[in-house]
Amino acid sequence: MGVFDAVARDGHEQIVHGYDPVSGLRAIIAIHSTALGPALGGTRFFPYESEPDALNDVLRLSKGMTYKAAVTGLDLGGGKAVIIGDPRELKSERLFRAYGRIVDSLRGRYITAEDVGTTTTDMDVVRRETKWALGASVAEGGAGDPSPVTARGLFAAAKAVAKKSWGNPDLAGRRFAVQGVGKVGSAFVQLLVEARAEVVITDAYEPAIESAVENYDVKPVEQNEIFTVDCDFFSPCALGAGLNEETIPRLNCQAIVGSANNQLATDEDAKRLAGRGILYAPDFVVNAGGLINVYDELQGYSRTRALHRVDGIYDSTMRILEKAENHGITPNEAAVMVADERIREIGDLRRFRRSGDDRN
Ligand code: NAD
Repeated sequence: MGVFDAVARDGHEQIVHGYDPVSGLRAIIAIHSTALGPALGGTRFFPYESEPDALNDVLRLSKGMTYKAAVTGLDLGGGKAVIIGDPRELKSERLFRAYGRIVDSLRGRYITAEDVGTTTTDMDVVRRETKWALGASVAEGGAGDPSPVTARGLFAAAKAVAKKSWGNPDLAGRRFAVQGVGKVGSAFVQLLVEARAEVVITDAYEPAIESAVENYDVKPVEQNEIFTVDCDFFSPCALGAGLNEETIPRLNCQAIVGSANNQLATDEDAKRLAGRGILYAPDFVVNAGGLINVYDELQGYSRTRALHRVDGIYDSTMRILEKAENHGITPNEAAVMVADERIREIGDLRRFRRSGDDRN
């Protein structure tokens, strides 16, 4: 893939490569769209096997952020960044400050936050060099760890799915199979248990299982068994691409609501799920809680306002499910349609420049 092929493939606006030989920083920032506002998306710090792998990931993730922000109705575009390397070995103050300077050079066209491999504490360091880094720690006046808020959004989405499927949003007595009980998964399990749902879990990391069992008295199963659990909801809260040709035929659920990004391995998998009569609530609709939470920092963070907006995921999920039903399409197609409509209708306003607006 040539350098410009990469930008052209999915209509990205800009790709920036940042390099600092002293700290070992190799970063790629991808701005997919600024049609609706600044491109906001976290920084993933990951030991990619190759630079093309890193580039592919950042292109895919940044496009996903455009859709997530648009479908959620936020005044944000889509962007994402990756830093190549093992965060456990490479993290340093110099690296994050060098990275902060690169982010700053984009003057707000791209706004960063934490993601896999980076933390709120890392964002505090980035913020020493740029104001365009959100998701700082609570001690620094930021919104803190977005995971519990993301879980709250999943809970709202699950209620919408329950209402649509069974005419009642109450999750008491509903059976959930949660794949991955890390930061989001465990917070989601807590909400479910409090709502008197029945929960089965799995994880690839034994201590995560032990902690969920101890704290919430939930039933663990083997990693591979989670797909076949007889349940109302399957909740992928681990990594992406878990719903694919091999796993979908094994599912024994009525609906899917989970936090993982890019749950479907291919677009075809949305049709596979529909073919099996499984209601799939699109990942980028239901997991927007974290994004809504950091977005709120742009206005001076208010937890109350952020949580209120996150509860709105009930309505956005319902709207997508109804649109899918009315048009005879999958919820994934309906969500993309809603996002595209918003980008067309509102994005066009950029023709009218505002005072002090340096977006180009
Ligand atoms: P995390 O790393 O804290 O948790 C992920 C958990 O999944 C870990 O405990 C890990 O051991 C487990 N896991 C990995 N592979 C697995 C497998 N094959 N089977 C079972 N368990 C497995 O991450 P997180 O912050 O909880 O995020 C979970 C997912 O949600 C990620 O895909 C992330 O991109 C997405 N997401 C997170 C947020 C957020 O606010 N943290 C927001 C939106 C989307």
